[in-house]
Amino acid sequence: MKYLIGNHKMNLSYAELEKYFAELKPIAEASDNFVGVCVPYVYLPLASTMCKGTKIHFGVQNMYYAEKGAYTGEISANMLKDFDTQMVILGHSERRSIFKETDEMVNLKVHKTIEAGFTPILCIGETKEERETNQTNDVLKTQLVGGLKDVSKDDLGKILFAYEPVWAIGTGISATKEDAEETIKYVKEVIAQMYGIEDLAQIVVLYGGSLKGDNVDEILSQPHIDGGLIGGASLKVEDFNKLIAYKG
Ligand code: PEP
Repeated sequence: MKYLIGNHKMNLSYAELEKYFAELKPIAEASDNFVGVCVPYVYLPLASTMCKGTKIHFGVQNMYYAEKGAYTGEISANMLKDFDTQMVILGHSERRSIFKETDEMVNLKVHKTIEAGFTPILCIGETKEERETNQTNDVLKTQLVGGLKDVSKDDLGKILFAYEPVWAIGTGISATKEDAEETIKYVKEVIAQMYGIEDLAQIVVLYGGSLKGDNVDEILSQPHIDGGLIGGASLKVEDFNKLIAYKG
């Protein structure tokens, strides 16, 4: 079983998403993989209604960590609970770079997401410059240590991690299968060391960054890669299906 989770970002319309879920339903039903879609907040009522009783898991792309109050434009955990939200993407590189989210903020969101009973999808990844100057491992370690501050070992098991090299997101250039495997193995080793875990298989890490039909087999067949977080190739059911169809 692999995790195939779509990140729709700010793309489809209501009508397009309605059609999308209707088409995805039988595909998810027939798949042994975990099929998920993270939608914009405003489509949660639609996702909640259309995914109920199906094998489509759904979530959102962000959440604020405060309980309630004067946070204009933000969305709380309790608001998400009203629509049976299952997953929340946290620390996506677009949130970090465009909206200036820090590891500290991501950490507060991780705690709140777990407390609310949702599955955090904690994203980490290095920029092109950081990779080219051999800082990848340091950057990932800093993001992990910061993002997981005061997260207990019990709660760690509730988190899905996504290693998403920033230079591979939306560029059409994915990491090579060797680089993705080596880096994800490193991510698992860092977490295992932090928590005294012996079996790396207890830690779930997805790969994200230009994953699509023509590279899914080689990337997902790597031993430490547990699935994919998918942007562009999740927007059309026809494309997403090529990833969901992965068997291995
Ligand atoms: C993403 O934004 O999480 C992502 C992986 O995007 P893409 O698949 O388009 O590179």
